[in-house]
Amino acid sequence: MPKIPDCDRCLLYAHNPHLVCAVHPAGPQGDSCLDFREDPNAEPVELWEPEGASYYNGELIVQPRQRWTPEEQLELIDWHPMFTGKCPECGASFDRDYTARVHWDCECGWMDDTV
Ligand SMILES: [Zn+2]
Repeated sequence: MPKIPDCDRCLLYAHNPHLVCAVHPAGPQGDSCLDFREDPNAEPVELWEPEGASYYNGELIVQPRQRWTPEEQLELIDWHPMFTGKCPECGASFDRDYTARVHWDCECGWMDDTV
C-alpha cells in the first residue's frame, strides 16, 4: 500500500493491510496528503537508524553510507556540470550529450573530484 509516513500518525489511517485510509483507500497521491489529520494520541515514530542504514517497509536495511546528504545534492544541482552543463570554473559548456558523461574534467584544468 503506498501510504506515506504521515499516515502512521493520521486520524484517518485505517491500520488495515487492505485499506490505507477511509478517504484514500489506495493511499494518498504523492508524498503529502491534503486530508491529513494529526492524531493527538499517536506515538511519535522515532526509529533508531544507525548511520548507513535506513528503514524500508519497516525493516532495517543496512546500506553503504550515501555520499551526499539531500542538502549537498541540492547544492550540486546549482553548480555541478552534471546538472548545469557548464564548467563551474570557466563557464565553458560541456558537450550537448553531457548527461551521459561520467568524467567532468574541463579543458581549463578544472577537474571533478565529487563523483
Ligand atoms: Zn573550465
